[in-house]
Amino acid sequence: MFCPNCDSQVPNGAAFCEKCGVQFKASPVAKKRSSGGGGGSRGGAAPPSYLVLSILATMFCCLPTGIVAIINSTKVGGALARGDYNAAQEASSAAMKWCVISFVLALLYLLFSWIMIVMKAEAGGGAGV
Ligand SMILES: [Zn+2]
Repeated sequence: MFCPNCDSQVPNGAAFCEKCGVQFKASPVAKKRSSGGGGGSRGGAAPPSYLVLSILATMFCCLPTGIVAIINSTKVGGALARGDYNAAQEASSAAMKWCVISFVLALLYLLFSWIMIVMKAEAGGGAGV
């Protein structure tokens, strides 16, 4: 990675720049601003993989759509490793989409079962248990 302050190369995961001493935040992906424009392969922030979100979606929401999300989030890393930035971004947004679908399905399911419980309770009336 590169120091956003002085543009010198610093080791990945470094907490601060060895050249100018500026402290990096937890996510080194700051505002995308290429002031130097010297050319090179450091253009753009890496798209997020949403892997944790996908796993959560699979465990707590909806298994089939969560698995699709996980597959897409694992594709992000592979595409980035190949240097295929467009594919990485595509897989990233696909993973995000399937996470959202999982959460929406889970919410619908909760809502539906809640409605069923309410309806059952009303239909049961006094003749129930
Ligand atoms: Zn620096």
